[in-house]
Amino acid sequence: MSKKQRIRPEFGERVHLEDYDPGYTGEYESKGDAKDALKHNLERIDVLQEVLYAEHKHALLIVFQAMDAGGKDSTIRHVMEGANPQGVQVASFKVPTQEELDHDFLWRIHKHVPGRGMIGIFNRSHYEDVLVVRVDELVPEDVWQARYEHINAFERLLADSGVTILKFFLHISKDEQKERFQDRLDKPDKHWKFSHGDLAVREKWDAYMAAYEDALTRCHTPWAPWHIVPANKKWYRNLVVSGAIVEALEGLDMRYPAPEPDLDKVVIPD
Ligand code: ADP
Repeated sequence: MSKKQRIRPEFGERVHLEDYDPGYTGEYESKGDAKDALKHNLERIDVLQEVLYAEHKHALLIVFQAMDAGGKDSTIRHVMEGANPQGVQVASFKVPTQEELDHDFLWRIHKHVPGRGMIGIFNRSHYEDVLVVRVDELVPEDVWQARYEHINAFERLLADSGVTILKFFLHISKDEQKERFQDRLDKPDKHWKFSHGDLAVREKWDAYMAAYEDALTRCHTPWAPWHIVPANKKWYRNLVVSGAIVEALEGLDMRYPAPEPDLDKVVIPD
């Protein structure tokens, strides 16, 4: 078994992704080993989400970033499996529209931040503005350089306003990505997931890793921590993400709202 690996980097420490094994599975050796723990987490998310919704005091924002085929969609599907859809909203951030580009980079993001009682999930996020935008040089360097601070201040504003923020980088190896791409090419029902553009991004793997390391280092804050999720094994990825969500929700010390008075005296008319 490999040595214990951190999921949350130390605050203030420079992240080197080569120190994080994407194939790490902690104390578990197989999917079967982790089955009960995963089931437990999903059941807890179900219960805790109901209290979050009923109490209407806190919001939870969950950010997912990954390389292509990193498993964002599948993780979202799995960890929210037991949740009440009324209390969950998912926003997927694509190439910005002209209207979005006419505003500051956080304009389109802010609109999708969950309100009290809600869980909001970002499938890609404002981090694209220091990832693809940096790697593809879509804006000058001084513009993207300033964004780390903008992001930290924005996330601080959200946290101060009652939003608990969890950020997950689903970390797969380059070999694992190749296998997943091959699977998409081999299976007709997965063809829709493949685009030629994915290979162009894959060619820039090292530049992306450098950009991720900066984002994971410079925007890892106590109010919006990153989790570097070993994601080659899908079952371990789901376990880690669901576990972090349970921990965050439990930390909120939530309660059902006080009932209206005299419920014991209520008689329901025939
Ligand atoms: P996904 O891969 O998330 O399933 P798509 O295949 O539609 O969804 O990819 C969305 C694309 O939008 C990605 O290539 C991503 O890099 C791009 N994108 C997202 N945000 C931005 C941004 N702010 N600037 C430029 N491109 C972006």
